[in-house]
Amino acid sequence: MTTAPAMHFAPTREQTVLRNRVRRFARQQLGADVARLDRERLFDRDGWKACADFGVLGWPIPAEYGGAGLDPLTTIMAFEALGQGCADNGLVFAINNHLFACAVYLLDHGTPEQCKRWLPALCDGSLIGAHALTEEETGSDMLSLRTTAVRDGGRYVLNGTKMFISNAPVADLFIVFARTSETAAPQQALSAFIVPADTPGLTVREIPKAGLRGTPMGEVSFTDCAVPADLLLGSEGGGYAAFTRTMEWERGFMVASQVGVLARLVDRCVRHASTRQQFGRPIGDFQAVSHTIADMRVRLELSQLLLYKVGWLRSQGRLALNEVSMLKLYVSESLKASALETMQLHGARGYTEDLGVEREVRDVLAGTIYGGTSQIQRSIISGLLGLSGPA
Ligand SMILES: Cc1cc2nc3c(=O)[nH]c(=O)nc-3n(C[C@H](O)[C@H](O)[C@H](O)COP(=O)(O)OP(=O)(O)OC[C@H]3O[C@@H](n4cnc5c(N)ncnc54)[C@H](O)[C@@H]3O)c2cc1C
Repeated sequence: MTTAPAMHFAPTREQTVLRNRVRRFARQQLGADVARLDRERLFDRDGWKACADFGVLGWPIPAEYGGAGLDPLTTIMAFEALGQGCADNGLVFAINNHLFACAVYLLDHGTPEQCKRWLPALCDGSLIGAHALTEEETGSDMLSLRTTAVRDGGRYVLNGTKMFISNAPVADLFIVFARTSETAAPQQALSAFIVPADTPGLTVREIPKAGLRGTPMGEVSFTDCAVPADLLLGSEGGGYAAFTRTMEWERGFMVASQVGVLARLVDRCVRHASTRQQFGRPIGDFQAVSHTIADMRVRLELSQLLLYKVGWLRSQGRLALNEVSMLKLYVSESLKASALETMQLHGARGYTEDLGVEREVRDVLAGTIYGGTSQIQRSIISGLLGLSGPA
């Protein structure tokens, strides 16, 4: 008796067509000026507009709110292709933050009125979104955050300072996490708010950083910053639960473009190893070089398998906490290792600014820090095994 195979790994025809179209778009229309933008630490507004016009900013958002309504697996594949094709990793990271750390929070937790009010402008790119959680004293341990939001009649008054916020200097809208109770249990003491950037009392200071310079980063301060109570996102005290639910999107989906970068590095190393000659032969003839690239290729394959599994689980509406942590950990560490090896295989040229390899290295280093560090991912995975967890 023959039975149908339980698993298959082939993308649909539509997914293949979309991936090819996205890669072509990204190669032809994005990142041409990345060296200058990186040097001058500039956000690429033209690239942002091109992505908005292509539909990128609304890929996973339902059509009723101005998006394309792609399912999670297809969204992941599209972002992988964008990451592979777009030389400006900073622009892609800005989009990731806008979409998965701001728009998707609104989609998951907003009222229909909030979604109607904000999502169409986030999808067409006329508003730029950001996500403000981290503080000077609050990084991995989000439950210790100190920014407060005090109810005062029909409004909440925010006070505190957020750090390392991606897109902050160019953002129009922030999802802000603040403490709404000093007495509730830690998991019920936080709430999320939608805060427009032009709210009086909100100020931003830019923070220069090593890589991903196409995504400006900032410190965001709230000084008696009052927002109407209808800008509470979800329920009062529901901020931690909202964060943990939607963080799965952020961790899983932001990794997709990193897998695309990994593919780009493999291609680049194969080209270089086939053309660069030393000792009268292409350097790829030396096993020390070819095996290094073989290891990179294996990391790419494993990253893709984990990535598609997470997309598939999400498309089935299933939880993927363990898989997302393994994916985030494995891909960010693999990318860091592969970028350093890419530099090594390119010799001195890889270390200069001419080729852009050193920029790739600077860009990928942050991947093991943002969205929960590698140590925290390992603690989540070991916690799910019944061993020591994050706290
Ligand atoms: C490029 C970039 C963009 C970012 N964008 C945003 C953004 O848009 N919004 C936002 O809110 N935040 C953002 N962040 C901040 C990011 O989320 C934090 O950096 C991250 O959560 C870690 O916090 P921390 O930097 O304070 O490090 P800490 O929490 O101070 O950790 C320092 C070190 O100690 C380790 N450590 C801490 N606790 C444990 C533990 N329990 N077990 C083992 N090791 C531990 C960490 O792994 C790390 O190596 C961004 C960061 C970067 C680098």
